[in-house]
Amino acid sequence: MDYVYGPGKNHLFVPGPVNIPEPVLRAMNRNNEDYRSPAIPAMTKTLLEDVKKIFKTTTGTPFLIPTTGTGAWESALTNTLSPGDRTVSFLIGQFSLLWIDQQQRLNFNVDVIESEWGQGANLDILAEKLAADHSHSIKAICIVHNETATGVTNNLATVRKLLDHYRHPALLLVDGVSSICALDFRMDEWGVDVALTGSQKALSLPTGLGIVCASPKALEASKSAKSVRVFFDWNDYLKFYKLGTFWPYTPSIQLLYGLRAALDLIFEEGLDNVIARHTRMGKATRLAVEAWGLKNCTQREEWYSDTVTAVLVPPYIDSAEIVKRAWKRYNMSLGLGLNKVAGKVFRIGHLGNLNELQLLGCLAGVEMILKDVGYPVKLGSGVAAACAYLQNNIPMIPSRI
Ligand code: PLP
Repeated sequence: MDYVYGPGKNHLFVPGPVNIPEPVLRAMNRNNEDYRSPAIPAMTKTLLEDVKKIFKTTTGTPFLIPTTGTGAWESALTNTLSPGDRTVSFLIGQFSLLWIDQQQRLNFNVDVIESEWGQGANLDILAEKLAADHSHSIKAICIVHNETATGVTNNLATVRKLLDHYRHPALLLVDGVSSICALDFRMDEWGVDVALTGSQKALSLPTGLGIVCASPKALEASKSAKSVRVFFDWNDYLKFYKLGTFWPYTPSIQLLYGLRAALDLIFEEGLDNVIARHTRMGKATRLAVEAWGLKNCTQREEWYSDTVTAVLVPPYIDSAEIVKRAWKRYNMSLGLGLNKVAGKVFRIGHLGNLNELQLLGCLAGVEMILKDVGYPVKLGSGVAAACAYLQNNIPMIPSRI
């Protein structure tokens, strides 16, 4: 029984945690097992090999850590850096802000590059800092690939180009929590040193796995990094990898079976098709927003996110009221505006296990809510704009051709 029951399915459109597909739910519905039996290490081996594919890496070393995105951040930082190390970090929204706060609390010397919320990372300032850093005092660039609070996707290829242009050896640490497995992400090609995500986002699992992938350079850095780490120490994992038992402590058996099923579904659809599906969802949502006469919080097209759209509302509307109504009247969950954009935006999450018709249900719901709160929307306008695009662009379902 739901804690607060509503008829039909809840339309879950927050940008994580997202819908869990039925085969994954079924795969997780099982008893505990002895993780030291031959079965769990054998499955773990396949998981470690296969998660590398979603990071697009052949040289990276993955870690499946029983944690959330926040723990994955901590794992990336404490394994590669020492207290006092200078990091350059971009403040563009709530999640980049929280990561910066974590970096400060872990005693790194954080050099913050701030942008208005709705803008992407200011890479011109990064270029200036790299050019001026002759002594290589910057040890890491920390960047959130997709800022979930504002729906902004940063250009990681350009960050890599800048590092290469200035021949700067700083590590590139990337939060891919709301991007990996949904947006184009290329760990090896972009020279990302640590990439991380959380299971409740595009992988469409319950919360509880932080998936972190370290480049050979990051593993090398971990040998001399002096930050205190215990639970997150990669070295403990590596010891057990060598032994072939894989786990320094008890994994969640159910999540591992869930991850196996989730990866199988992603590979069955094809990772590139999964990414293309997200591209369509993002585009359809933006077309609807435009048809409603509303503005995207993301200020430039180059930063548009295909996993979450933050919609700006007119000043006479409180966006929190939209989110409240969605839940109370239409059994739909939308994302709130966070911190600086609280009351100003609501967010439509369109990531993970989701199809176009589900999205149209959400868009129809948003139209009714907009009318409820006094915004003069023409009912059907956003849905029509999204349909016109989707009808021309939805491919056959790969497994059914
Ligand atoms: N990074 C990004 C981009 C996020 O969107 C989130 C959560 O939404 C986090 C980090 C934090 O992840 P968690 O809540 O799993 O700790």
